[in-house]
Formats: sequence, C-alpha cells, structure tokens
Amino acid sequence: DPALALEGVEKTYGRGRAGEVRVLRGVSLALAPGEAVALVAPSGAGKSTLLHIAGLLDTPDAGVVRLGGQDMAGRGDRARTQARRDRVGFIYQFHHLLPEFTALENVALPQMAAGVGRRAAEVRAQELLDRVGVGPRAGHRPAALSGGEQQRVAFCRALANRPSVLLADEPTGNLDPETSDQVFGVLMALVRETGLAALVATHNMALAARMDRTLRLEAGEIVPA
Ligand code: ADP
Ligand code: ADP
Repeated sequence: DPALALEGVEKTYGRGRAGEVRVLRGVSLALAPGEAVALVAPSGAGKSTLLHIAGLLDTPDAGVVRLGGQDMAGRGDRARTQARRDRVGFIYQFHHLLPEFTALENVALPQMAAGVGRRAAEVRAQELLDRVGVGPRAGHRPAALSGGEQQRVAFCRALANRPSVLLADEPTGNLDPETSDQVFGVLMALVRETGLAALVATHNMALAARMDRTLRLEAGEIVPA
C-alpha cells in the first residue's frame, strides 16, 4: 500500500454561496514508503489546503484520503485525531517550537501525549537530536538555538512518534542557502533510512530536483511538472 494516497479529492470554500472558491478539483496522488516528493505550487493554488487534507486536519468535500491503505475520510474525529498523532508528522516554514521548553522537551512532549513514559520519551528525543547533530544543544530553549538548529529540532519533533508520512511546508524557507542545504540533507537521510514518505512543498527548484519526483499543483489540479 502507498504510505499516503489521495484520490479525487475536492474542496470548495463557501460552497453554494456567491463567491465560492473551488480550491481542489479532483486531486489524486500517491506516495510510496521511503519516497520524497516535491510539491510545487504558485501562491493560492491550494497547497495549504492539500497539505491540511492529507494530514487529516481538514476534510475533503469528495474523494478519499488513505494512510497506509486505510480510508480516513469517512472516519470519526477520534480516529482521525489518533491517526494524525501516530502516523503523520508536520514541519512548517517557521518551526513553532514551544519557547518555554528545551529542545529535548519539545521532542519528548508529543511522545508523552501519545502515551510514552517520560524517561523513554526523553531517551528517544536525545537519540533523534544526536542523529541530526543538535544533541549537545538538547538542554537549550529554542531562543538560544540558531535557525538551522531550531528547524532540526522541529524535524525531530515531527518524527518523534515514528510517523509513516511527513508533510512539510517550505521546511527550509526561512534559512540561508547553506543552512537550508544542510537541513534538507538531514530530511533526505531520514527518508532514506527510515522508510518515511515525505511530501515537501517548496518553491526551491534546486531542492525539488534532489527529491524523487515533483508534483505541480496549479489551480487546484495536479499538472505535469
Ligand atoms: P496556497 O497555500 O497554495 O497559497 P490555500 O490552500 O491556502 O493556497 O488557498 C487556496 C485558495 O483558497 C485561495 O484563493 C484562498 O484565498 C482560499 N481559501 C483558503 N482557505 C480559505 C477559507 N478558509 N475560506 C475561504 N477561502 C479560503
Ligand atoms: P528503535 O525502535 O530502537 O528506535 P529503529 O529501527 O526504529 O529502532 O530505529 C533505529 C534508529 O533510527 C534509532 O536511532 C531511531 O531513533 C532512529 N529512527 C527510527 N525511526 C525513526 C524515524 N521515524 N525518524 C527518525 N529516526 C528514526
């Protein structure tokens, strides 16, 4: 089964009212485990809507969203919330780390929310931070870390619960080119080593070229890249 599949996904805001916006017009895509796919979209094309629907934060008007072969669109809120927590990781352009907690705590907390004990959560958090080269900074709060370090901590947080799907929205968008390159390298290494499927929205064509393939979203439809 694909790690993530969307089939015929449609979404309209303000449906039936004057000025309704048809944002997604039948989007289909599938990501295999261990595959990194770039999502390239002009502003307003529906990228955020697509990522939110893929991550079970929003529901489509029509179509199917499958995680690991399981149709999630028709499931109840509890099942969707649980699937999102256990199987999907999110990374945004701005890391949204909790400022009053250390790097280690930021990575441990989502595991504890999923029922892992504090000790085990902190051991895994430290392993992940070591893995991306910010282990020595584990005891610092985000404000004391560089942008690249903060973004690597955000990766660790997104991966803490071993999701099968990673959804990233301009994950290196606020970093200088060198740091962006390094952080992106970490992302690709994690995809290759853990079998994670990653859908990465980016305007950076050089990064898109380093992924397995590119999907282009234009006016709510996937068009040839
Ligand atoms: P992108 O991320 O590609 O810029 P979005 O998915 O955020 O695009 O939005 C696509 C279109 O849908 C835009 O025209 C936007 O103004 C509109 N839109 C997004 N969210 C809403 C909403 N909650 N209500 C009404 N229109 C929305
Ligand atoms: P374990 O269950 O003991 O963590 P795994 O085979 O799952 O063993 O992982 C081996 C290594 O890869 C460990 O360092 C682990 O932290 C790391 N790892 C496992 N899953 C992920 C993931 N989804 N993202 C990043 N690193 C991971």
